[in-house]
Amino acid sequence: MNYNSNENKNFSSQISRRKILKYGRSGLATGALTLAASCQKENVKQPQTTPTTSAKINTSSEMSPDNFFEILMAGNKRFVENQRTSPNITRERLTEVAAGQNPFATILSCADSRVPVEIIFDRGIGDLFVVRNAGNIATPEEIGSIEYGTFVLGSKVLMVLGHEKCGAVQATIAGEPVPGQIGSIVAAIKPAVEITQGQPGDPVRNAVKANVIEQIKIINSSPVITQLIQESKLKVVGGYYDLDSGEVSIVSEKVGVA
Ligand SMILES: [Zn+2]
Repeated sequence: MNYNSNENKNFSSQISRRKILKYGRSGLATGALTLAASCQKENVKQPQTTPTTSAKINTSSEMSPDNFFEILMAGNKRFVENQRTSPNITRERLTEVAAGQNPFATILSCADSRVPVEIIFDRGIGDLFVVRNAGNIATPEEIGSIEYGTFVLGSKVLMVLGHEKCGAVQATIAGEPVPGQIGSIVAAIKPAVEITQGQPGDPVRNAVKANVIEQIKIINSSPVITQLIQESKLKVVGGYYDLDSGEVSIVSEKVGVA
């Protein structure tokens, strides 16, 4: 699918109209659990049909998680090709989403400063619900955040995004003592390192990709997430970000296999 800037504008205005949840300024602090429960019915509502001049994207109700995934990846293609359109960064958009957010994708990414998520997907304010930590690990807090982004806010895509030369993975492979709480990160990444030990190819690259798959497995243990998947309301994918090219490639189960 090809999304030009006009269509992007249309898409953006459509997803902004998906008033699944008017959160206002109340934020997470005031009873997210209550809201999650009370919004269950609202959350499954399909977006309203919206008058538009676009031939390709007429209503967001016609759009599947696959469609949103294509839109996400189209943004990365623009970034790679240096054709960024920088959608949804206007003052108007700021005002629009201040009333409520409907991010179409939730992304668990590494905190690495070289992986600025909105930039590498060429998206703007209110488009992506981004959860980050070193090593993109699915701790209970991160899973809760992901459940919030998908179940409550209605994201149709969930991506776990690892990246080239991830320091957290490198530290885990090195196996040296680490200071402070960094050990908890290393412990979470260790299974991926063990799985890929002895495999052909670059051990860091293999472990990063295996870690993406392992974290997805952990996330999939959430009944909230599995329900969304079963109802075809959510697409879960693994991604690998190349620091040199800026490209996000899809990580499959066959990681580490030459
Ligand atoms: Zn990293």
